[in-house]
Amino acid sequence: MWFMTARPPRLTFEPIPSRRVRLVGLDVDGVLTDGGVYVGEGAGAGIELKRFDIQDGIGVRLLRHGGIRVVIVSGRVSGATARRAAELGIDDVVQDDAARKLPAFARLLARDHIRFDEAAFVGDDLPDIPVLERVGLPVAVRNAVPEVLDVAQYVTTRPGGHGAVREFAEALLRARGAWDGAVADYLAERGEAARVGGAHA
Ligand SMILES: [Mg+2]
Repeated sequence: MWFMTARPPRLTFEPIPSRRVRLVGLDVDGVLTDGGVYVGEGAGAGIELKRFDIQDGIGVRLLRHGGIRVVIVSGRVSGATARRAAELGIDDVVQDDAARKLPAFARLLARDHIRFDEAAFVGDDLPDIPVLERVGLPVAVRNAVPEVLDVAQYVTTRPGGHGAVREFAEALLRARGAWDGAVADYLAERGEAARVGGAHA
């Protein structure tokens, strides 16, 4: 169980790197989910289901309200991931079934003229390490393997799939002094939508 093997969380990170972050990269399995995958078959085709956390989803939206780009880099090709990313309005989703995350992440950064030291990445397992070793703010979820915990500068208290991304989003925005503004923007957008009879939350 994650809580028996994980090391005590390190809860502080330097305000300097937090202010520099322009983009947050997220792994999927074990970060946006608890790592479990339901694999089945229906109507002769394979079905794969993952469980995502709604509070994490709002955390992603808050990061964007705080002016931070959010991208997904997964080492597993999954329709569930593509669907969840679309729900959250995340345009950049890289799914590489050989889990070569560093080249994919580097291409995204280069396209947007963002340096590695201006990026954070949240990971949980060995395929994330090449990216975590390069970014300015490497983050591990509580359930990460020891090798990932070792390279992380920030470790969440909550495990992947259970609010870890929301926790990190809040910690990062608070460290930049951007939390209250992001929350106000988020709520204003929803209030505005309600007044014009529009969008769902
Ligand atoms: Mg993972």
